[in-house]
Amino acid sequence: MTELLFRDDGYLRSCAARVISVNARGIRLDRTVFYPMGGGQPGDAGALRLPAGQAIAIVDTVKGDLPHEVIHIPAPGSALPELGTELIAEIDWTRRYRLMRMHTCLHLLCSIVPGAVTGGQVSDGKGRLDFDVPGSSLDKDAIAGRLNELITQAHRVAPRWVADEELAAQPELVRTMSVKPPSGTGRVRLIEISGVDLQPCGGTHILSTAEIGPVAVTKIENKGKQNRRVILAFAG
Ligand SMILES: [Zn+2]
Repeated sequence: MTELLFRDDGYLRSCAARVISVNARGIRLDRTVFYPMGGGQPGDAGALRLPAGQAIAIVDTVKGDLPHEVIHIPAPGSALPELGTELIAEIDWTRRYRLMRMHTCLHLLCSIVPGAVTGGQVSDGKGRLDFDVPGSSLDKDAIAGRLNELITQAHRVAPRWVADEELAAQPELVRTMSVKPPSGTGRVRLIEISGVDLQPCGGTHILSTAEIGPVAVTKIENKGKQNRRVILAFAG
C-alpha cells in the first residue's frame, strides 16, 4: 500500500519515503506526492533524491495493477535504488501547478457547457473537453467570457468524500461518461467548486479558481455528429 499524499494536499512538492519495490516497470514507495496518470491528467515528473546526494530522474508516473499502486518511472539507464532505501520524492512543481490549474479550469468548463462530457485531456499549458451536444450551438467568446468571470470570482475549490451509495443516489453528479469515478473502496471523492460545480474526481486541484489566471478558448472543433471539442489555453 502506498499512502497517496497528493490526494489530501495537492500543494505538497516533496515527501520523505521508503522504497518498497523496484522492478522493470519502475519504483514504488510507501508514500508519494507523485500523481499517477489518470482521469485525463498526466502523471508527474520529478526526482527521487537519495541520502548520498544522487538523484534518480522520474520521467512519468502511472498506476499499478492494484488501487493505491503508484509506479514512478525512472529515466532510461538510471541506477535503481535498493529496496528499503529512504529518500526524498520531489515533483516538478512548476509543471504540476500548471496541470492543476488547467485541470481545475476544465471543471469550470464542464459547468458552463450543457451536455455530457465524452472525453478530456489536460496537457501542459492547455486542456480540452469533448461534449455530447447536438448542432453548433457553442459560442467560443461566450464560453471564454464566462470562464474568465468564474476565474476572477475566486470560488473556493475543496474535496468532499461521500459513500458509494450516496453517489449512486445522485447519478447526475457524474458528468464525465468516459471516466468513471473510482469505486469499490466504499467512498468516492467529490470536488466542489463552491456555487459552481460538484463532481467525482481523483485529480489534483488548486484551492481557488483565481489561481487559474486568464484563459482563452482557442478552438471549438466538430468531432462528429454530437461531439464538440472545446480547447483551452492559458492566456496570461
Ligand atoms: Zn478534477
